[in-house]
Amino acid sequence: MTRFLISRLLACLLLAAVCLPVLNFTSQAQTPAAAPPAGGDIIAATRVLPPMVIRQNDQFTGFSIDLWNEIASRLNLKFTYEAAPDVRAQLEAVRSGKAALGIAAISITSAREAEFDFSQPILNAGLQIMVSGKTKEAGGNPLGDLLSLLFSWTSLAWLGIAVLLVIVPAHVVWFLERRHAGGIIPTDKYIPGIFYALYWAAGTLATQAESAPKQWLARILTILWMFTGLVFVALYTAQLAATLTVQQISGGINGPGDLAGKKVGVTRGSTAATVVREYQGNAVEVSQITEAYALLERREVDAVVFDSPVLLYYAANDGKGKVSLVGSTFRKEDYGIVFPKGSPRRNQVNVALLKMREDGAYQRIYDKWFAAK
Ligand code: GLU
Repeated sequence: MTRFLISRLLACLLLAAVCLPVLNFTSQAQTPAAAPPAGGDIIAATRVLPPMVIRQNDQFTGFSIDLWNEIASRLNLKFTYEAAPDVRAQLEAVRSGKAALGIAAISITSAREAEFDFSQPILNAGLQIMVSGKTKEAGGNPLGDLLSLLFSWTSLAWLGIAVLLVIVPAHVVWFLERRHAGGIIPTDKYIPGIFYALYWAAGTLATQAESAPKQWLARILTILWMFTGLVFVALYTAQLAATLTVQQISGGINGPGDLAGKKVGVTRGSTAATVVREYQGNAVEVSQITEAYALLERREVDAVVFDSPVLLYYAANDGKGKVSLVGSTFRKEDYGIVFPKGSPRRNQVNVALLKMREDGAYQRIYDKWFAAK
């Protein structure tokens, strides 16, 4: 019995000696050690996206920067910022262990959550659509607008209604009026008689009739039809005016459903790029959001889809009078601070962040950047 136990024990020890280095190796492979740069500071990967992160000379400022500076000072963390060209590179810096964390405007998504650890949300954001405010006034193509309006499905539907509103009364009037001497139908034959009736019905619908039937029932019908024509013209005019106004403001983009087939400026690797493709839009990817703004200004894209806090800031500052936002956010997202999987810092940061919410520090930073002035 004792011999059996001893041999079991030896077998276990042998197994452990073989397996442990392997296990150790796998866990190292999953969480690359964040190698601290010279001087012992950790790197915070960031990315310029006003008002979350603004570069002023060689300094960074902005909501996310103020927030992280406060967290780091509470936790006594020494760090240096390094700016990444896009969110993909920013996440890559964290994945590879070059940076200990990433902070700017990083949206928490299911795919990213599977690869990284996120802090508690630092801001509620979401995607919004921005179009050029001057879409049709400067350099627009009014003829193109008119043609696209005339050949739109809406116009086709109106045409269908108009055809019905002409054909039906034309037949009634033809039937009543065809034998009436001196009436508007000079013959009792269907052809060409019906053409006279159709001409009358079309004229009446457009409130421009030249002649009126003589037969009394046909006359009552004419009066009724004159009112129908009035209502029809009024409704059609209202519809045209509304469509043209909307086109004027947004170039025909009134929501994410209108992005299909449109050129849309987004930043590389962003959630906006993914979502624009989901809506069948043609995502034009750039590194800096300012490049997307420039594309919109030069009308090389029809819209920009991006994070609402960033777009709102631009629309209220440099983009004032040049751009307008279409609707509110259509995809809610939260920003978080990103860490490598298993990072021990996440918990400390979360505690600091929640304390900042409780003691008002978070609110002060929030108001500094987002309160209406
Ligand atoms: N919220 C966006 C994202 O996380 C930001 C993209 C960017 O930094 O350009 O995808």
